[in-house]
Order: sequence, then C-alpha cells, then structure tokens
Amino acid sequence: MVRPSEMDVVIVGGGLVGGTLAVALAQQNFKVAVIDRESPEELLKPNLDGRTTAVSYGSKLIFDQLGIWNKVDHAAEPILDIRVFERDSPWAIYYDHRDVGDVPMGYIVENRVLRQGIFHRAAEVSDHLAWMAPTSVAHTERNLEGVVVELADGRTLKAPLLVGAEGRLSPTRDEAGIKTLRWSYEAMALIAHVSHEKPHQGSAWEVFQPQGPFAILPLRTCPTTGAYRSGIVWTGSPDDINRLLALDDAAISAELQDVFPYFGAIQVSGKRWSYPLSAMVARGTVDHRLAIVGDAAHTVHPVAGQGVNLGWRDAHTLAEVLGKAKRLGLDIGSKSILQEYQRRRRVDTASILAMSDGMVRLFSNQSSTLSFLRNTGLGIVNQVPPLKRRLMRHAMGV
Ligand SMILES: Cc1cc2nc3c(=O)[nH]c(=O)nc-3n(C[C@H](O)[C@H](O)[C@H](O)COP(=O)(O)OP(=O)(O)OC[C@H]3O[C@@H](n4cnc5c(N)ncnc54)[C@H](O)[C@@H]3O)c2cc1C
Repeated sequence: MVRPSEMDVVIVGGGLVGGTLAVALAQQNFKVAVIDRESPEELLKPNLDGRTTAVSYGSKLIFDQLGIWNKVDHAAEPILDIRVFERDSPWAIYYDHRDVGDVPMGYIVENRVLRQGIFHRAAEVSDHLAWMAPTSVAHTERNLEGVVVELADGRTLKAPLLVGAEGRLSPTRDEAGIKTLRWSYEAMALIAHVSHEKPHQGSAWEVFQPQGPFAILPLRTCPTTGAYRSGIVWTGSPDDINRLLALDDAAISAELQDVFPYFGAIQVSGKRWSYPLSAMVARGTVDHRLAIVGDAAHTVHPVAGQGVNLGWRDAHTLAEVLGKAKRLGLDIGSKSILQEYQRRRRVDTASILAMSDGMVRLFSNQSSTLSFLRNTGLGIVNQVPPLKRRLMRHAMGV
C-alpha cells in the first residue's frame, strides 16, 4: 500500500463521490489518500442508508471505465421507461428507452451496493490509494508549496492538492471561506423498500401530488422470496412525513395503495428512513490547492434523481483535468489549473439545479393557471418527439 505521507491528492470524505474520484485518480497513478470519519464497515451497515440511486446511463459509462460497474451490475435494475404525471390529471409523459436507442435510461442501485463496489475497487488499486478511516482532519494548512493535513489520530499528510467531498456540510469548503447559496424546501423525504403483486417491468414512476412528488423505482426481484420489489421516495411536509413514519406497516401500506394503485397490492415492510430536503450551491468550487466535489459543491432536490450523478460528473472532470496537468508536468494544485475544472462544471450544475428546483416549484403550486401550464407542458413534451428525446438524453447524462 502507498505510504500516506507522500501523497498527490488528499480527499476528505469517501462517500459515493469522494470514493469514485479516489479510484479515478489512483487509476491514473496519482497517489491518493481518502479520509472518512466512518469506517467502511459502518458505511456498509444495512440500516445506515436505505436510499437507492438512479444511476444515469452516462454515470454507468464512467463506472465501466473505473472498473466499478462490474462489481455492482449484479444488483442493478435497468430503467426501461419513466412515467411522469400529476395526480388526478389526464396528462402524462411516457419516456420509453427505445425512443433514444437500445440501452436502458439508467439503473436503480441501492446506495449500499454502490459503496461496496467502490470499496472493492479501491482495495484493488491500493498500490496508489490509502483509505484512512475512521479518522478526521484536525487541521489543514494550504501554502505555496502544498497542503499539510493533520489528522485527529496524530498522522500528518502532505500533498499538492486537497479535495473536499464530505457532502453538503463540508468543513473543508467552509474553512476555505467558500460562500454558499442555500434554501430549504421545508419538506422531507420518506424512503422505504416495498413489495408488490405485479411486476414493475423496469418502470420508474413519478407522481406529482399537492403535498410533493412521489417516486417509485424498480429494484431487483428478491433473490430469496421472488417478491417484486421497488424503492419509494415519498416527499411531503415534515408533519406529513413524521405522521407516515409513525404508522404501522398495515396503515402506511393502505395509504400507499391509495397514492399508487398501479402494481396491485403493495406492502411497506422493514426500516423506513427520512431525509430533510434542501438545495445549495457553492459560489466557487476551487481555490489555491483546493477543489470541492459532489454535495459539498451542490445539493439538489431528489425529484429528478440527479444529485449524485452530477457529483460523479464532477469527479470524472476533475480527474481528467488533473490527469492532463500531470502529463504536462504542471502543478496540480495551482488555481489556474483547477479553474478549468470549475469552468467545465458550471453549466451542468446550474442547469440540473434549475431543472430540479423548477420542477418542485411548478408542481407544488396549486394555482389554476399553473395547473393549466403544467398539463399543457406535459402534453407538448409527449407530442414533440425531438423535445422528448432531448430531455431523455439530458436525464441519461449522455
Ligand atoms: C432522499 C434522497 C434521494 C436521493 N436520490 C438520488 C438519486 O436517485 N439519484 C441521484 O443522483 N442522487 C440522489 N440523491 C442525492 C445523493 O444522495 C447525493 O447527491 C450523494 O449522496 C452525494 O454524495 P457525496 O459523496 O458528495 O456526499 P455524501 O454521500 O454525503 O458522502 C460524504 C462522505 O463524507 C464523510 N464525511 C462527512 N463529514 C466528514 C468529515 N468532517 N470528515 C471526514 N469525513 C466526513 C461521510 O462519512 C461520507 O462518507 C438523493 C438524495 C436524497 C436526500
């Protein structure tokens, strides 16, 4: 294993984005240290995070290149179509993957499986990658020569570049004085796994209700019982969600049946999780000897299932920019090099943030004019194939 004191890049936060970046850099022979406050064993505990991720087709291609996809594809359910509609409205958009080609629009994978795949690949490239967890950063100093990172366990690392990937509360970002713009949706998401009578046939559904969007995402059939399974993301006000969390399985299943009657009898069982919903964008993503990626740089509403896909595109771009600088013999921590990363990520970040935020606002407003516009919009998208294909490619990240 690489010796931790002689690093090229120190990444703080080994989550879905930081871990992916670490593998991408190690594969280009950078010496990388990942620091996470949680051990991999803790992060893989089944009860920690019940979320599933809609991995876009573009992100799947990134994982192919990184040798991660072959470690998760056994548990990845292809998304063959997406249905979006407003409750009690006759209009719907139906995105069929065959409209844009013969590949799925994406895959639904449990976050735990994605983490496992990243840890597994990180272990394979451990000649270049030191995974240091559980520990945390006690102090960092960035100067002309490089970055010095002192860990809480007394170890010291030196590198030309520090990357903040600790998620939306990133201390690395805040200590660097990078300002953020943030807002809360005054809403929460309830996450659970459900089983249902009829097969999902690879369909992901999004139902807009006055309380907030509801999504049901296809999961692999249970290998032991053969039950058809999906993951749900049920959003609403904190009061709505706390009430749903307190119901027993039979009562919440009955409410779910009313919201989503399309798969026959539907049952919620097992643990339920909840997450507050907010959005944030950092005013910059680089400084001298510093870059931030993933939720540390932007947090978006999960309505369009794009947050971590955006983060993986950050990781892919940053690895490309650093790889090019290394081949040219340039200082990878210099702000002028890092600015290329910031510039290349700006449009994608702004458009996903605006799209996700716009969808939530458009569909949560009960005015009759907006209701008319929504339904007309859904109708137009369905009737104009080039527009529909464009939206599909955007969502697929290709
Ligand atoms: C309900 C919900 C559903 C979602 N569904 C989707 C979806 O379908 N598709 C999609 O693209 N996105 C989705 N997202 C967004 C997605 O979950 C996030 O974008 C993603 O988790 C961000 O990854 P990250 O690695 O940047 O941060 P995180 O996942 O937050 O990881 C941060 C890592 O840093 C570590 N850490 C934190 N603080 C410190 C510290 N001080 N020192 C050291 N280590 C630290 C943590 O232990 C963790 O390992 C959803 C989000 C929510 C809330």
